[in-house]
Amino acid sequence: MELARKLAILADAAKYDASCASSGSKRSRSSKDMLGDTNGVGICHSYTPDGRCVSLLKLLLTNYCIYDCRFCVNRVSSDPPRARFTVDEVVWLTVEFYKRNYIEGLFLSSGIIQSPDYTMERLAEIARRLREVEKFNGYIHLKAIPGADPALLDRAGRHCDRLSANIELPTDEDLQSFAPEKTIETVDLTMSCIKDKRDESRAERKVSRKAPKFAPAGQSTQLIVGATPSTDTTILAQSSRLYIQHKLKRVYYSAFSPIPHADGQLPATTPPLIREHRLYQADWLMRFYGYTASEITTPDNPDLSLNLDPKHAWALRNPDFFPIDINKASRKALLRIPGIGVRNVNRIVKARKSKRLKLADLRTFRVALNRAQAFIVAADWSPPDPINDPLNHEEEKTADTLKHAPEPARTKHLHDAGTAALFGEF
Ligand code: SF4
Repeated sequence: MELARKLAILADAAKYDASCASSGSKRSRSSKDMLGDTNGVGICHSYTPDGRCVSLLKLLLTNYCIYDCRFCVNRVSSDPPRARFTVDEVVWLTVEFYKRNYIEGLFLSSGIIQSPDYTMERLAEIARRLREVEKFNGYIHLKAIPGADPALLDRAGRHCDRLSANIELPTDEDLQSFAPEKTIETVDLTMSCIKDKRDESRAERKVSRKAPKFAPAGQSTQLIVGATPSTDTTILAQSSRLYIQHKLKRVYYSAFSPIPHADGQLPATTPPLIREHRLYQADWLMRFYGYTASEITTPDNPDLSLNLDPKHAWALRNPDFFPIDINKASRKALLRIPGIGVRNVNRIVKARKSKRLKLADLRTFRVALNRAQAFIVAADWSPPDPINDPLNHEEEKTADTLKHAPEPARTKHLHDAGTAALFGEF
C-alpha cells in the first residue's frame, strides 16, 4: 500500500484518541484544503510543560488490533480499511513533516499488534530512532500499552516527553462489558510503573543534571464518556484516584461517538457535548480550586448539571459558606466564589494589601460580577439575605446557547481543553 494511503487511513483512525489537546476539534465548512484544519489530516495541537502550543503529527502505527473493545472502530471484529506503518516510515514522515515546518512533534498511538510487548517495542524504537539517529528534538507523545513490560516502558520514557495509558472506561464492570481484554488493574500497573520511573529520574537528576529524563511532560489518560451508564460521580472519582495515585498530568474526557457497525449495547447517539464540558470544568475544580470529587456531585444528583457550571452548583448547595468578604477571606475561600478564577484570586490577594477593594476594583480585574456579586461582600457592597442569585436563568441560557451553537463556538468551549483561560474564571 502506498504511503499516502496509509497516512490517510492511520491519521484518520487516530482522531478518536482525545489524549492530546485539540483532538476531536471540528470546524464547520471543514475541508481538507483549509489551512489549520485538524479534522482527519493528522495534525493536532498540544501543550508543552512551559505552556507553548505545538502542532503534532498525530498517527496510529496501525489500526489493526487483536483486542475487541466494542466502542472502538479499530477492534478486531470491525472492518475498516486497515493499514500499518513500518518503524522506518513513521520516522521518515516525522522528520520530513518537521523539516517542512508542518509539525513540531509526534503523537503516536497504536492498536495492539500480536501483544502489548510487541507493540510497545515498536513504539519505543520509533522514539529511540528519532532521538538518537535523527537527532530529533521535538515533542514526542507515545501511547503506553497497558500490560507492556516495564523495561519497554523504560525505553519509551527515556526518549519521549509524555506517555499515556488509556483507561477508556471508569470501572472494571464497564471494561468487562465493553473491553473484555482490559482491566483497571493492568492499566494501574502501567501507570504506576511510569510514575515510579518518573520519580526515580527526578531523584537522580537532583544528584546529577546529566541523569536521563523520563517522560518529563508526565502521563495522561483518556476516559470515554457516555458509552456506558456510569455516572459523572463514578467518572470523577476515578479521575481523582488517578491524579492522586499516579500523579497524572491530565485526564481527557471524550464523549462517546457512535461508530459504524457498533455493538447493540452501545448508545446510538453521542451524549450531549455539554456533559464533556462540565466534566472538564469539574476536573479543573479538582486540580486547581481545591475541591474533592465527592463535593462536586451529590448522591441525589450523581450527574453534573448541564445547566449550571459545577462551581456555581456547589455554591448554591452551600449557602452557609457565603457571603465571602473579599477583603478578609483566605485564598482557599476566595477560590470557591463563582465567577472568580485563580488569576483573579491572585490579583485580589495582592491588591487588598494596599486598599479595601470595592466592586469597581473587581470590574477592573474583569471578574464575572454577574456570577460573583451575589456571593461576596466588598467595601461598598453586601448581598441581600438570603442570597438572591440572579444567575440561574443566565446559566441556563448559556448552556442552551452551547447546545445549539454552531460548531466553531462549541468547539471553542469544548475542545480547547489545554487553555487555562477557558476554565480559569468560573
Ligand atoms: S485496545 Fe485500543 S485500539 Fe484495540 S480495540 Fe481496544 S481501544 Fe481499540
